[in-house]
Amino acid sequence: MAETFLNYIAGQWAECKSKKTFPNVNPANTDEVVGLFQASGPEDVRAAFDAAVKAQPAWAALPAPRRGEYLFKAAEILEGRLARLAEEMTREEGKTLPESKGEVKRAINIFRYFGGEGARQFSHQIPSERENVFCYTMRKPLGVVGLITPWNFPSAIPAWKAAPALVGGNAVVLKPASLAPLSAYRLVEALHESGVPAGAVNYVTGGGGTVGNAIIEHSALRAVSFTGSCEVGNKLHEKMNGRKVRIQLEMGGKNPTVVLKDAELDYAADLLVNGAFFSTGQKCTACSRAVVEKAVYEPLVEKLVAKTRKLKVGNGLDPGVDIGPAVDANQLETDLKYIDIGKREGAELLCGGNRLAGGAYDKGHFIEPTIFARVTPEMRIAQEEVFGPVLALMVANDFDDAMRLANCVKFGLSASIVSRDLTRVHQFINRIEAGLITVNLPTAGVEYQLPFGGTKESSFGMREQGPAAIDFYTETRTVYLKYTQ
Ligand code: NAP
Repeated sequence: MAETFLNYIAGQWAECKSKKTFPNVNPANTDEVVGLFQASGPEDVRAAFDAAVKAQPAWAALPAPRRGEYLFKAAEILEGRLARLAEEMTREEGKTLPESKGEVKRAINIFRYFGGEGARQFSHQIPSERENVFCYTMRKPLGVVGLITPWNFPSAIPAWKAAPALVGGNAVVLKPASLAPLSAYRLVEALHESGVPAGAVNYVTGGGGTVGNAIIEHSALRAVSFTGSCEVGNKLHEKMNGRKVRIQLEMGGKNPTVVLKDAELDYAADLLVNGAFFSTGQKCTACSRAVVEKAVYEPLVEKLVAKTRKLKVGNGLDPGVDIGPAVDANQLETDLKYIDIGKREGAELLCGGNRLAGGAYDKGHFIEPTIFARVTPEMRIAQEEVFGPVLALMVANDFDDAMRLANCVKFGLSASIVSRDLTRVHQFINRIEAGLITVNLPTAGVEYQLPFGGTKESSFGMREQGPAAIDFYTETRTVYLKYTQ
């Protein structure tokens, strides 16, 4: 019998009021239920808000470095459990074990980084134009913040929202994705064991339409940070209209890698394989379009297809596996639907394109990494986010044409270029419409200590991670102090 995991409200582990649960299923082996989680309702969210509202003033009154100490302690607890937590993440989300280890380590780094921010919440001292007046700004927490997170980085994203919120002095109500709630549970468990005061952190599982909605609608909500699809994010934005709630939305992408004619082609092909297919293409920053200068298109594609065919798809717990399963049957169906759309639109299928079947594959949602050639900008596979291992290849006549193709989508999350031409690289950096820009690196693989976020339809609101994260979770107060009378 699978273990049942509880909500965490007011410092207590609690069943939801309805006492109903839902299963968290292993996408590599659907016979395995990783755990049963609380199918909470609005009444559980209200209880979490009551606890958060009650706890927040005392939490905010603690000196920020002392708030940071809880994060340091939780990081230490997580580090002691890294191997087990990584294995659990692979079981609930499907990514490979090395990818899961990297992500748990990243969550630990995030806790440590923001633990340190407790002692570093800088503000400004600005000269006054009046005599004997001392002017400065200070930061204040917002109050209670709601955090709604997706399944694809089930530990790192809850960590990169909760840690700056907490160290900034806010109380948190966290709702993880229903497909992968265990990794966030482990973060909350570590915070609980660190002794964080009751009510500062609250964790409520359940459907987006019920729990997510109840968070959004609560009158005590002062800010919401959401990561997920454009569809849901845009709905939340509309719902917030007219309310004075700070909102941060991190959503989809259709991220290009531009390969110029001077690129070293083996290097470029490896970088494309990494960006497009690792984590089964289920990264918001995954590369889903390769824009290649005509002069190197044919030889690059040959190398790319050969390398892609060598990738091993399987259960992420097995050694040597490069690519795990799609996260669930719906995502697999979406991947296959877009492959079908690509074929019908006239793109040329170079490799992959099929669900994998037979033996252990029959128990999970496995799909071949897929490459389409002859993709043109008006095709849906050139414009819409698939969120699976599907790469669209586009030929560019020259650099200007490559920029046109790279920018011709509504998204603007990440983008990369492969080139040794310093002039072109700088022109790309200036002209590309993306919030995250990499050079001779994959589109994915960002670091926790730098700001993160996109432009255009990919993101809305202030940046996450790095020093910028504290800005979202705090409000500036301005002080004019005359020290003579
Ligand atoms: P999703 O379906 O939009 O869900 C995201 C979160 O919102 C989940 O916790 C979900 O709950 C909740 N939710 C669903 N409906 C809701 C509603 N009506 N009100 C409030 N909350 C609601 O996205 P996903 O499938 O988990 O994640 C994949 C998407 O995330 C992709 O589009 C990807 O690009 C994007 N993403 C973006 C970034 C970034 O930083 N830009 C990072 C990672 C992922 P349930 O799980 O219970 O449905």
